[in-house]
Amino acid sequence: MTDLHRLSIRELSEGLAGSKFSSRELTEHYLKRIAKIDAQVQSYVTVTPEQALAQADAADALRKSGMANVLTGVPVAHKDIFCTHGIKTTAGSKILDNFISPYDATVVAKGKVAGLVTLGKVNMDEFAMGSTSESSYFGATKNPWALDHVPGGSSGGSAAAVAADLAPFATGTDTGGSIRQPASFCGLTGLKPTYGRVSRFGMIAYASSLDQGGPMARSAEDCAYLMNVMAGHDERDSTSVNIDADDYVANLNGTSVKGLRIGIPKQYFNVAGLDADVKARVEESLKKLEDMGATLVEIDLNMTDAYVPTYYLIAPAEASSNLQRFDGVRYGYRCENPVDLTDLYKRSRSEGFGPEVQRRILIGTYALSAGYYDAYYVKAQKVRRLIQQDFLKAFESVDVIAAPSAPTTAYKIGASLDPVEMYLGDIYTIAVNLAGLPAINAPVGFDKDQLPVGLQLIGNYWSESQLLSVVHQYQQATDWHTKRAAIAEENA
Ligand code: GLN
Repeated sequence: MTDLHRLSIRELSEGLAGSKFSSRELTEHYLKRIAKIDAQVQSYVTVTPEQALAQADAADALRKSGMANVLTGVPVAHKDIFCTHGIKTTAGSKILDNFISPYDATVVAKGKVAGLVTLGKVNMDEFAMGSTSESSYFGATKNPWALDHVPGGSSGGSAAAVAADLAPFATGTDTGGSIRQPASFCGLTGLKPTYGRVSRFGMIAYASSLDQGGPMARSAEDCAYLMNVMAGHDERDSTSVNIDADDYVANLNGTSVKGLRIGIPKQYFNVAGLDADVKARVEESLKKLEDMGATLVEIDLNMTDAYVPTYYLIAPAEASSNLQRFDGVRYGYRCENPVDLTDLYKRSRSEGFGPEVQRRILIGTYALSAGYYDAYYVKAQKVRRLIQQDFLKAFESVDVIAAPSAPTTAYKIGASLDPVEMYLGDIYTIAVNLAGLPAINAPVGFDKDQLPVGLQLIGNYWSESQLLSVVHQYQQATDWHTKRAAIAEENA
């Protein structure tokens, strides 16, 4: 079969169960596509063909013995922020260029239990800091829709791999938009779960109170399958919540759009810098949801102006603390010929970290330093609570909140936005992380340059099933999620 990469996760699961193809055939098919097409997209940092084929054969054997699960033998790509036993895990950084983890992240381990076949590790902004994937030490990943554009970030490799049909779905992480924004830039569906829903064990920390893993795929249905694997309590992550995860696939038709109250924040649609095409596509998608029976309700989110400054104090503060562990001593990059311990720390870190990571460590260290701590960090934490309360108040009168995922479509590679311009592009995604809420991106059309536009729906705590279900209903009634970039049409 030449078109295995066109099948949805449900079709892959049914095809494997019905012996239409084996996991080995499917895995070889994807590996061939990666070998032929990924030189143009550069979504993978590491491809693991031998391990993938061994896992595929094991999956096929399990299938023969009647012991297979729904996803046994389905391939996946993991963001290179999830630790993988025996396979390099770089977080997009020179400082971890030689790091081979002695254990699997819980998300990776759960994937193995479910029978997923790991194709490899995909590219990302260094330590997930960025919105373009250009800050990766391993070079920029390209947007499959326009190779001279970025795929977004930080989970740009995950997005590009799925959009180019180099993986049927992928894991991502979202600290301030890193699942939703690249999903938006690459025409995919991506879910950022409620904080605590997916284990962070073995997921290299950027800002621990904001980080959350989640699925990236073509459709809400495909995301639901991966969410069933990723979600759940984990004793090894103290912030993981001890509430049973839903069956997201079974719940796909659980929420009707009819009668759904969708909040439209006044402040969000008047943001300077909101692209006219993005605004138009998002409004058309909301009109469609209205036609399907939803009610649009104007709401106030008064704290909008505080999002960017608050996030860009808290995230770097936590990052400066988390990244102290990379010191060149026990693992990771070490500078040549250190003269003493201080020299070893200094040079290993200044040679090993890229400029954006260094900038954030400096901002974060400053915000946490004695004398500035109350004025910056503590103040930001207080404002963070006000942002959360703003959302909770809105959820008293609406079921979900709609927004663009990003004010623009994908940037040109090398557009060299200054850091503040880049940070402002996160306006629609970061408040969700500050409040710990779940949110989803769904593709809703294209701009004048044929670049994808995304709609974001934000839900109340633990409403992942509802968000997936609403997007699933929308995708039953529209076909934006079925559109393919030209490069994805290429056969290997
Ligand atoms: N662009 C945001 C940042 O640079 C969000 C990144 C993320 O979610 N990991 O921090």
